[in-house]
Amino acid sequence: MSETQKIVILGGGYAGLLTAVTLQKKVHEKRAEITLVNKNDYHYLTTKIHESGAGTLDSEMVRYPISSLIDTERINFVQDEVMGIDLTKRQVLLKNGSLPYDYLVVGFGGIPQTFNIPGLEENAFFLFDFEGTEKLRNHIEKQFEEYMMDQDKSRLTFVIGGAGFTGIEFLYEMIEHIPALCRKYFIDESMVKVVCVEADDTLLKGYDPRMVNDVLASLQGVPCHFQLGLAVTSCKKGEVSFSDGSAIKTNTVIWAGGIKGNPLLKDLGFELINGRVKINKFLEVLGYKDIYVLGDASVCYSPEGKPYPPSAQIALQEGQYCGYNIACKIYGQPAKPFQYIHRGTVMSMGRKHATGVVYGNHINGRFGAFMKYVIEMRYFYMLGGVPFLFREWKKGIRNKRQIKRGERG
Ligand SMILES: Cc1cc2nc3c(=O)[nH]c(=O)nc-3n(C[C@H](O)[C@H](O)[C@H](O)COP(=O)(O)OP(=O)(O)OC[C@H]3O[C@@H](n4cnc5c(N)ncnc54)[C@H](O)[C@@H]3O)c2cc1C
Repeated sequence: MSETQKIVILGGGYAGLLTAVTLQKKVHEKRAEITLVNKNDYHYLTTKIHESGAGTLDSEMVRYPISSLIDTERINFVQDEVMGIDLTKRQVLLKNGSLPYDYLVVGFGGIPQTFNIPGLEENAFFLFDFEGTEKLRNHIEKQFEEYMMDQDKSRLTFVIGGAGFTGIEFLYEMIEHIPALCRKYFIDESMVKVVCVEADDTLLKGYDPRMVNDVLASLQGVPCHFQLGLAVTSCKKGEVSFSDGSAIKTNTVIWAGGIKGNPLLKDLGFELINGRVKINKFLEVLGYKDIYVLGDASVCYSPEGKPYPPSAQIALQEGQYCGYNIACKIYGQPAKPFQYIHRGTVMSMGRKHATGVVYGNHINGRFGAFMKYVIEMRYFYMLGGVPFLFREWKKGIRNKRQIKRGERG
Protein backbone atom coordinates (compact mmCIF):
# COMPACT_ATOMS: atom_id res chain seq x y z
CA MET A 1 0.00 0.00 0.00
CA SER A 2 1.17 3.54 -0.76
CA GLU A 3 1.72 6.15 1.98
CA THR A 4 -1.48 7.95 0.97
CA GLN A 5 -4.30 5.46 1.18
CA LYS A 6 -7.14 5.55 -1.31
CA ILE A 7 -10.47 5.29 0.49
CA VAL A 8 -13.49 4.88 -1.76
CA ILE A 9 -16.98 5.17 -0.27
CA LEU A 10 -19.88 3.92 -2.37
CA GLY A 11 -23.23 5.56 -1.66
CA GLY A 12 -24.05 8.92 -0.12
CA GLY A 13 -26.83 7.68 2.15
CA TYR A 14 -26.73 7.68 5.95
CA ALA A 15 -23.93 5.13 6.24
CA GLY A 16 -21.69 6.42 3.43
CA LEU A 17 -22.07 10.07 4.33
CA LEU A 18 -21.29 9.52 8.01
CA THR A 19 -18.20 7.52 7.05
CA ALA A 20 -17.04 10.40 4.86
CA VAL A 21 -17.78 13.08 7.45
CA THR A 22 -15.97 11.07 10.16
CA LEU A 23 -12.94 10.38 7.96
CA GLN A 24 -12.55 14.01 6.94
CA LYS A 25 -12.13 14.86 10.63
CA LYS A 26 -10.02 11.89 11.70
CA VAL A 27 -7.50 11.34 8.92
CA HIS A 28 -4.96 13.89 7.74
CA GLU A 29 -5.05 14.69 4.03
CA LYS A 30 -1.49 13.45 3.60
CA ARG A 31 -2.55 10.01 4.83
CA ALA A 32 -5.71 9.46 2.83
CA GLU A 33 -7.35 10.39 -0.42
CA ILE A 34 -11.07 10.06 0.19
CA THR A 35 -13.60 9.64 -2.63
CA LEU A 36 -17.35 9.51 -2.18
CA VAL A 37 -19.40 8.12 -5.06
CA ASN A 38 -23.15 8.60 -5.34
CA LYS A 39 -25.45 8.29 -8.31
CA ASN A 40 -27.13 11.61 -7.56
CA ASP A 41 -25.52 14.87 -6.57
CA TYR A 42 -27.79 14.98 -3.52
CA HIS A 43 -28.32 13.11 -0.26
CA TYR A 44 -31.90 12.45 0.80
CA LEU A 45 -33.44 11.74 4.18
CA THR A 46 -34.88 8.29 3.57
CA THR A 47 -36.64 8.52 6.92
CA LYS A 48 -38.77 11.38 5.56
CA ILE A 49 -39.44 10.42 1.95
CA HIS A 50 -42.87 9.03 2.86
CA GLU A 51 -43.83 12.61 3.71
CA SER A 52 -42.67 14.14 0.45
CA GLY A 53 -44.09 11.11 -1.39
CA ALA A 54 -47.56 11.68 0.03
CA GLY A 55 -47.25 15.41 -0.58
CA THR A 56 -47.31 16.57 3.05
CA LEU A 57 -43.74 17.87 2.96
CA ASP A 58 -41.92 19.99 0.43
CA SER A 59 -39.43 17.85 -1.52
CA GLU A 60 -36.66 20.35 -0.84
CA MET A 61 -36.93 19.54 2.87
CA VAL A 62 -35.70 16.00 2.29
CA ARG A 63 -32.80 16.42 -0.09
CA TYR A 64 -29.48 18.21 0.24
CA PRO A 65 -26.65 18.78 -2.25
CA ILE A 66 -23.84 16.44 -1.18
CA SER A 67 -21.34 19.24 -1.73
CA SER A 68 -23.06 21.19 1.07
CA LEU A 69 -22.60 18.31 3.54
CA ILE A 70 -18.95 17.40 3.09
CA ASP A 71 -15.66 19.26 3.09
CA THR A 72 -15.05 19.34 -0.67
CA GLU A 73 -11.40 20.26 -0.06
CA ARG A 74 -10.94 16.93 1.71
CA ILE A 75 -13.38 14.67 -0.08
CA ASN A 76 -13.50 14.13 -3.77
CA PHE A 77 -17.16 13.73 -4.69
CA VAL A 78 -17.90 11.72 -7.83
CA GLN A 79 -21.42 11.67 -9.17
CA ASP A 80 -21.64 8.34 -10.95
CA GLU A 81 -23.35 4.98 -10.75
CA VAL A 82 -21.53 1.97 -9.35
CA MET A 83 -21.77 -0.92 -11.81
CA GLY A 84 -19.54 -3.45 -10.07
CA ILE A 85 -16.48 -4.18 -7.96
CA ASP A 86 -13.37 -5.90 -9.26
CA LEU A 87 -11.93 -7.54 -6.16
CA THR A 88 -8.82 -8.83 -7.97
CA LYS A 89 -7.79 -5.47 -9.42
CA ARG A 90 -9.13 -3.64 -6.31
CA GLN A 91 -11.19 -1.31 -8.45
CA VAL A 92 -14.71 0.01 -8.43
CA LEU A 93 -16.36 -0.04 -11.83
CA LEU A 94 -18.45 3.02 -12.53
CA LYS A 95 -20.71 3.85 -15.46
CA ASN A 96 -18.12 6.41 -16.54
CA GLY A 97 -14.81 4.89 -15.52
CA SER A 98 -13.21 3.12 -12.61
CA LEU A 99 -11.65 3.93 -9.24
CA PRO A 100 -8.81 2.07 -7.51
CA TYR A 101 -9.06 1.59 -3.75
CA ASP A 102 -6.99 0.57 -0.75
CA TYR A 103 -10.05 0.68 1.52
CA LEU A 104 -13.54 0.22 0.18
CA VAL A 105 -16.72 1.19 2.02
CA VAL A 106 -19.94 -0.10 0.49
CA GLY A 107 -22.98 1.89 1.59
CA PHE A 108 -25.26 1.86 -1.43
CA GLY A 109 -28.24 0.43 0.44
CA GLY A 110 -30.59 -2.28 -0.76
CA ILE A 111 -33.39 -2.52 -3.28
CA PRO A 112 -37.12 -3.07 -2.73
CA GLN A 113 -38.14 -6.62 -1.89
CA THR A 114 -40.87 -7.57 -4.37
CA PHE A 115 -41.02 -11.32 -3.66
CA ASN A 116 -41.21 -11.83 -7.45
CA ILE A 117 -44.87 -10.78 -7.41
CA PRO A 118 -45.82 -10.54 -11.08
CA GLY A 119 -46.17 -7.00 -12.36
CA LEU A 120 -45.21 -5.31 -9.11
CA GLU A 121 -41.89 -3.94 -10.26
CA GLU A 122 -43.41 -2.46 -13.41
CA ASN A 123 -46.68 -1.11 -12.03
CA ALA A 124 -46.26 -0.22 -8.37
CA PHE A 125 -44.71 2.83 -6.70
CA PHE A 126 -41.97 2.24 -4.15
CA LEU A 127 -41.32 4.05 -0.92
CA PHE A 128 -37.63 3.68 -1.36
CA ASP A 129 -35.75 6.60 -2.86
CA PHE A 130 -36.22 10.27 -3.62
CA GLU A 131 -36.89 9.89 -7.36
CA GLY A 132 -39.51 7.21 -6.75
CA THR A 133 -41.36 9.18 -4.13
CA GLU A 134 -41.31 12.31 -6.30
CA LYS A 135 -42.98 10.32 -9.06
CA LEU A 136 -45.55 9.08 -6.55
CA ARG A 137 -46.29 12.57 -5.26
CA ASN A 138 -46.99 13.87 -8.78
CA HIS A 139 -48.99 10.78 -9.68
CA ILE A 140 -51.27 11.10 -6.64
CA GLU A 141 -52.07 14.70 -7.42
CA LYS A 142 -52.67 13.82 -11.08
CA GLN A 143 -55.24 11.19 -10.04
CA PHE A 144 -57.31 13.84 -8.26
CA GLU A 145 -56.95 16.23 -11.17
CA GLU A 146 -57.98 13.66 -13.77
CA TYR A 147 -60.87 12.35 -11.68
CA MET A 148 -62.51 15.73 -12.24
CA MET A 149 -62.45 15.02 -15.96
CA ASP A 150 -63.34 11.31 -16.24
CA GLN A 151 -64.95 10.49 -12.83
CA ASP A 152 -63.06 7.17 -12.89
CA LYS A 153 -63.39 5.91 -9.30
CA SER A 154 -60.26 3.75 -9.51
CA ARG A 155 -58.25 6.98 -9.60
CA LEU A 156 -59.29 7.71 -6.03
CA THR A 157 -58.47 4.24 -4.70
CA PHE A 158 -55.00 3.92 -3.20
CA VAL A 159 -53.63 0.55 -2.14
CA ILE A 160 -50.65 0.32 0.20
CA GLY A 161 -48.91 -3.05 0.19
CA GLY A 162 -47.30 -3.76 3.56
CA ALA A 163 -48.31 -2.65 7.06
CA GLY A 164 -44.79 -2.45 8.43
CA PHE A 165 -43.08 0.71 9.67
CA THR A 166 -42.83 2.37 6.23
CA GLY A 167 -46.31 1.40 5.02
CA ILE A 168 -47.96 2.70 8.18
CA GLU A 169 -45.97 5.95 8.18
CA PHE A 170 -47.07 6.53 4.59
CA LEU A 171 -50.69 5.65 5.39
CA TYR A 172 -50.83 8.45 7.96
CA GLU A 173 -49.37 10.94 5.51
CA MET A 174 -51.95 9.97 2.89
CA ILE A 175 -54.79 10.34 5.36
CA GLU A 176 -53.49 13.79 6.29
CA HIS A 177 -53.09 14.96 2.72
CA ILE A 178 -56.39 13.74 1.27
CA PRO A 179 -58.58 16.56 2.71
CA ALA A 180 -56.33 19.20 1.10
CA LEU A 181 -56.41 17.44 -2.28
CA CYS A 182 -60.19 17.04 -2.06
CA ARG A 183 -60.60 20.75 -1.30
CA LYS A 184 -58.32 21.70 -4.17
CA TYR A 185 -60.16 19.56 -6.74
CA PHE A 186 -63.71 19.91 -5.30
CA ILE A 187 -64.01 16.20 -4.56
CA ASP A 188 -66.10 14.73 -1.76
CA GLU A 189 -63.70 13.08 0.73
CA SER A 190 -65.93 10.02 0.97
CA MET A 191 -65.03 9.21 -2.64
CA VAL A 192 -61.41 8.51 -1.68
CA LYS A 193 -60.51 5.00 -0.56
CA VAL A 194 -57.23 4.04 1.12
CA VAL A 195 -56.63 0.33 1.61
CA CYS A 196 -53.63 -1.14 3.40
CA VAL A 197 -53.03 -4.86 2.92
CA GLU A 198 -50.62 -7.00 4.88
CA ALA A 199 -49.79 -10.66 4.30
CA ASP A 200 -49.04 -11.19 7.98
CA ASP A 201 -51.79 -11.44 10.55
CA THR A 202 -50.55 -8.39 12.42
CA LEU A 203 -49.42 -4.90 11.53
CA LEU A 204 -46.01 -3.58 12.56
CA LYS A 205 -44.69 -7.09 13.01
CA GLY A 206 -41.70 -7.21 15.33
CA TYR A 207 -42.38 -3.78 16.85
CA ASP A 208 -43.41 -3.07 20.42
CA PRO A 209 -47.10 -3.98 21.01
CA ARG A 210 -47.63 -0.52 22.56
CA MET A 211 -46.87 1.03 19.18
CA VAL A 212 -49.36 -1.32 17.52
CA ASN A 213 -52.01 -0.32 20.07
CA ASP A 214 -51.35 3.38 19.44
CA VAL A 215 -51.84 2.87 15.72
CA LEU A 216 -55.03 0.85 16.13
CA ALA A 217 -56.48 3.38 18.58
CA SER A 218 -55.63 6.41 16.45
CA LEU A 219 -57.01 4.90 13.25
CA GLN A 220 -60.46 4.27 14.72
CA GLY A 221 -62.97 6.27 12.76
CA VAL A 222 -60.40 7.20 10.14
CA PRO A 223 -61.51 6.42 6.59
CA CYS A 224 -58.97 3.73 5.71
CA HIS A 225 -59.37 0.04 5.37
CA PHE A 226 -56.94 -2.54 6.82
CA GLN A 227 -56.80 -6.03 5.49
CA LEU A 228 -54.49 -8.33 7.44
CA GLY A 229 -53.57 -11.86 6.33
CA LEU A 230 -54.01 -10.91 2.68
CA ALA A 231 -51.11 -11.09 0.25
CA VAL A 232 -50.73 -9.21 -3.01
CA THR A 233 -50.41 -11.84 -5.74
CA SER A 234 -50.15 -9.70 -8.86
CA CYS A 235 -50.27 -6.13 -10.01
CA LYS A 236 -51.18 -4.90 -13.43
CA LYS A 237 -52.11 -1.54 -14.88
CA GLY A 238 -55.36 -0.52 -13.22
CA GLU A 239 -55.72 -3.55 -10.93
CA VAL A 240 -54.12 -5.35 -8.01
CA SER A 241 -55.03 -8.95 -7.05
CA PHE A 242 -54.88 -10.76 -3.73
CA SER A 243 -54.39 -14.24 -2.28
CA ASP A 244 -58.12 -14.73 -1.58
CA GLY A 245 -58.91 -14.29 -5.27
CA SER A 246 -60.23 -10.76 -4.88
CA ALA A 247 -58.95 -7.73 -6.80
CA ILE A 248 -59.16 -3.96 -6.51
CA LYS A 249 -59.34 -1.56 -9.41
CA THR A 250 -56.76 1.11 -8.76
CA ASN A 251 -54.21 3.24 -10.54
CA THR A 252 -52.01 3.49 -7.47
CA VAL A 253 -50.33 0.63 -5.65
CA ILE A 254 -47.70 1.78 -3.18
CA TRP A 255 -45.37 -1.02 -2.21
CA ALA A 256 -43.74 -1.00 1.21
CA GLY A 257 -42.73 -4.65 1.47
CA GLY A 258 -39.23 -4.14 2.80
CA ILE A 259 -35.81 -4.25 1.20
CA LYS A 260 -33.35 -6.87 0.08
CA GLY A 261 -29.67 -6.78 -0.79
CA ASN A 262 -28.31 -4.89 -3.77
CA PRO A 263 -27.72 -7.18 -6.81
CA LEU A 264 -24.31 -5.53 -7.26
CA LEU A 265 -23.15 -7.64 -4.32
CA LYS A 266 -24.34 -10.91 -5.78
CA ASP A 267 -21.41 -12.40 -7.63
CA LEU A 268 -18.54 -11.25 -5.43
CA GLY A 269 -18.35 -14.44 -3.39
CA PHE A 270 -19.33 -12.66 -0.16
CA GLU A 271 -21.52 -14.54 2.31
CA LEU A 272 -25.04 -13.21 1.76
CA ILE A 273 -28.24 -13.30 3.79
CA ASN A 274 -31.26 -12.34 1.68
CA GLY A 275 -28.80 -10.60 -0.64
CA ARG A 276 -27.24 -8.57 2.17
CA VAL A 277 -23.60 -9.11 3.12
CA LYS A 278 -22.74 -10.80 6.39
CA ILE A 279 -20.10 -8.72 8.21
CA ASN A 280 -17.93 -9.25 11.26
CA LYS A 281 -17.77 -7.20 14.46
CA PHE A 282 -15.45 -4.70 12.74
CA LEU A 283 -18.02 -4.31 9.92
CA GLU A 284 -15.58 -5.92 7.50
CA VAL A 285 -16.66 -8.47 4.93
CA LEU A 286 -15.65 -11.91 6.20
CA GLY A 287 -12.19 -12.65 4.85
CA TYR A 288 -11.45 -9.02 3.79
CA LYS A 289 -9.69 -6.55 6.08
CA ASP A 290 -10.10 -3.65 3.65
CA ILE A 291 -13.76 -3.92 2.59
CA TYR A 292 -16.57 -2.70 4.80
CA VAL A 293 -20.26 -3.09 3.98
CA LEU A 294 -22.60 -0.88 5.96
CA GLY A 295 -26.28 -0.01 6.40
CA ASP A 296 -28.98 -1.75 4.40
CA ALA A 297 -26.39 -3.48 2.19
CA SER A 298 -25.22 -5.63 5.10
CA VAL A 299 -26.43 -7.66 8.04
CA CYS A 300 -24.82 -6.90 11.39
CA TYR A 301 -25.20 -9.23 14.35
CA SER A 302 -25.68 -8.53 18.04
CA PRO A 303 -23.22 -10.14 20.49
CA GLU A 304 -26.00 -12.71 21.11
CA GLY A 305 -25.90 -13.61 17.42
CA LYS A 306 -29.21 -11.99 16.42
CA PRO A 307 -29.30 -9.87 13.24
CA TYR A 308 -30.17 -6.22 13.79
CA PRO A 309 -33.00 -5.01 11.56
CA PRO A 310 -31.89 -2.45 8.95
CA SER A 311 -32.47 1.11 10.09
CA ALA A 312 -31.08 4.60 9.70
CA GLN A 313 -30.01 4.41 13.33
CA ILE A 314 -27.67 1.50 12.76
CA ALA A 315 -26.49 2.84 9.37
CA LEU A 316 -25.39 6.10 11.06
CA GLN A 317 -23.57 4.36 13.88
CA GLU A 318 -21.90 2.03 11.41
CA GLY A 319 -20.79 4.98 9.27
CA GLN A 320 -19.22 6.72 12.25
CA TYR A 321 -17.59 3.52 13.42
CA CYS A 322 -16.22 2.70 9.97
CA GLY A 323 -14.53 6.11 9.75
CA TYR A 324 -12.96 5.47 13.15
CA ASN A 325 -11.90 1.93 12.23
CA ILE A 326 -10.19 2.99 8.98
CA ALA A 327 -8.46 5.85 10.81
CA CYS A 328 -7.15 3.34 13.37
CA LYS A 329 -5.79 1.14 10.58
CA ILE A 330 -4.12 4.06 8.82
CA TYR A 331 -2.44 5.23 12.02
CA GLY A 332 -1.54 1.66 13.07
CA GLN A 333 -3.73 1.67 16.17
CA PRO A 334 -5.93 -1.17 17.42
CA ALA A 335 -9.68 -0.64 16.91
CA LYS A 336 -12.42 -1.67 19.31
CA PRO A 337 -15.22 -3.77 17.79
CA PHE A 338 -18.45 -2.08 16.71
CA GLN A 339 -21.06 -1.84 19.41
CA TYR A 340 -24.54 -0.86 18.35
CA ILE A 341 -26.51 1.26 20.81
CA HIS A 342 -30.21 0.84 20.19
CA ARG A 343 -31.80 3.99 21.56
CA GLY A 344 -35.29 3.12 20.46
CA THR A 345 -37.75 3.51 17.63
CA VAL A 346 -40.06 6.38 16.83
CA MET A 347 -42.65 6.10 14.07
CA SER A 348 -44.47 9.13 12.76
CA MET A 349 -48.27 9.11 12.66
CA GLY A 350 -48.71 12.10 10.44
CA ARG A 351 -47.08 15.46 10.99
CA LYS A 352 -48.17 16.08 14.57
CA HIS A 353 -48.14 12.66 16.23
CA ALA A 354 -45.80 9.73 16.61
CA THR A 355 -45.48 6.54 18.61
CA GLY A 356 -42.41 4.76 19.79
CA VAL A 357 -40.23 3.37 22.50
CA VAL A 358 -37.17 5.34 23.54
CA TYR A 359 -34.72 3.83 26.04
CA GLY A 360 -37.49 1.37 26.95
CA ASN A 361 -40.08 4.08 27.59
CA HIS A 362 -43.25 4.25 25.57
CA ILE A 363 -43.91 7.65 24.01
CA ASN A 364 -46.73 8.83 21.80
CA GLY A 365 -48.81 11.74 20.55
CA ARG A 366 -47.30 15.19 20.23
CA PHE A 367 -44.42 14.30 22.53
CA GLY A 368 -43.63 11.40 20.21
CA ALA A 369 -43.58 13.79 17.26
CA PHE A 370 -41.29 16.11 19.21
CA MET A 371 -38.89 13.21 19.84
CA LYS A 372 -38.89 12.40 16.12
CA TYR A 373 -37.97 16.02 15.48
CA VAL A 374 -35.16 15.83 18.06
CA ILE A 375 -33.79 12.72 16.32
CA GLU A 376 -33.79 14.57 13.01
CA MET A 377 -32.04 17.60 14.53
CA ARG A 378 -29.45 15.32 16.10
CA TYR A 379 -28.66 13.99 12.65
CA PHE A 380 -28.08 17.50 11.35
CA TYR A 381 -25.80 18.11 14.30
CA MET A 382 -23.84 14.94 13.51
CA LEU A 383 -23.43 16.10 9.93
CA GLY A 384 -22.48 19.72 10.35
CA GLY A 385 -22.45 20.71 14.02
CA VAL A 386 -24.38 23.67 15.46
CA PRO A 387 -24.26 25.89 12.32
CA PHE A 388 -25.92 23.23 10.15
CA LEU A 389 -28.41 22.33 12.86
CA PHE A 390 -29.38 25.99 13.24
CA ARG A 391 -29.69 26.49 9.47
CA GLU A 392 -32.00 23.47 9.14
CA TRP A 393 -34.07 24.51 12.13
CA LYS A 394 -34.63 27.93 10.54
CA LYS A 395 -35.38 26.34 7.16
CA GLY A 396 -38.01 24.10 8.81
CA ILE A 397 -39.73 27.07 10.45
CA ARG A 398 -39.69 29.03 7.18
CA ASN A 399 -41.19 26.06 5.35
CA LYS A 400 -43.99 25.63 7.92
CA ARG A 401 -44.89 29.32 7.56
CA GLN A 402 -44.97 29.03 3.78
CA ILE A 403 -47.26 26.00 4.03
CA LYS A 404 -49.57 27.93 6.37
CA ARG A 405 -49.70 30.82 3.93
CA GLY A 406 -50.46 28.34 1.13
CA GLU A 407 -47.25 29.17 -0.76
CA ARG A 408 -46.18 25.52 -0.67
CA GLY A 409 -48.04 22.23 -0.78
C1 LIG B 1 -40.06 5.64 4.04
C2 LIG B 1 -38.98 5.14 4.98
C3 LIG B 1 -38.99 5.54 6.30
C4 LIG B 1 -37.99 5.09 7.17
N1 LIG B 1 -38.00 5.53 8.47
C5 LIG B 1 -37.01 5.15 9.31
C6 LIG B 1 -36.96 5.66 10.64
O1 LIG B 1 -37.83 6.43 11.06
N2 LIG B 1 -35.94 5.26 11.44
C7 LIG B 1 -34.96 4.42 11.00
O2 LIG B 1 -34.02 4.13 11.76
N3 LIG B 1 -34.96 3.93 9.74
C8 LIG B 1 -35.96 4.27 8.89
N4 LIG B 1 -35.98 3.79 7.59
C9 LIG B 1 -34.89 2.88 7.14
C10 LIG B 1 -33.65 3.69 6.78
O3 LIG B 1 -33.99 4.79 6.01
C11 LIG B 1 -32.61 2.83 6.06
O4 LIG B 1 -32.31 1.72 6.88
C12 LIG B 1 -31.35 3.66 5.79
O5 LIG B 1 -31.64 4.67 4.84
C13 LIG B 1 -30.18 2.82 5.28
O6 LIG B 1 -29.09 3.67 5.04
P1 LIG B 1 -27.98 3.32 3.95
O7 LIG B 1 -26.95 4.38 4.06
O8 LIG B 1 -27.57 1.92 4.08
O9 LIG B 1 -28.73 3.40 2.54
P2 LIG B 1 -29.53 4.56 1.84
O10 LIG B 1 -29.96 5.58 2.82
O11 LIG B 1 -30.55 3.85 1.02
O12 LIG B 1 -28.44 5.24 0.88
C14 LIG B 1 -27.91 4.59 -0.24
C15 LIG B 1 -27.29 5.62 -1.14
O13 LIG B 1 -26.59 4.96 -2.19
C16 LIG B 1 -26.95 5.49 -3.45
N5 LIG B 1 -26.83 4.43 -4.45
C17 LIG B 1 -27.60 3.33 -4.56
N6 LIG B 1 -27.17 2.56 -5.57
C18 LIG B 1 -26.10 3.20 -6.11
C19 LIG B 1 -25.22 2.91 -7.19
N7 LIG B 1 -25.34 1.80 -7.92
N8 LIG B 1 -24.25 3.80 -7.48
C20 LIG B 1 -24.09 4.93 -6.75
N9 LIG B 1 -24.89 5.25 -5.71
C21 LIG B 1 -25.88 4.39 -5.39
C22 LIG B 1 -28.39 5.99 -3.25
O14 LIG B 1 -28.71 6.99 -4.21
C23 LIG B 1 -28.31 6.53 -1.83
O15 LIG B 1 -27.84 7.85 -1.81
C24 LIG B 1 -36.97 4.22 6.70
C25 LIG B 1 -36.96 3.82 5.36
C26 LIG B 1 -37.95 4.27 4.50
C27 LIG B 1 -37.92 3.84 3.05
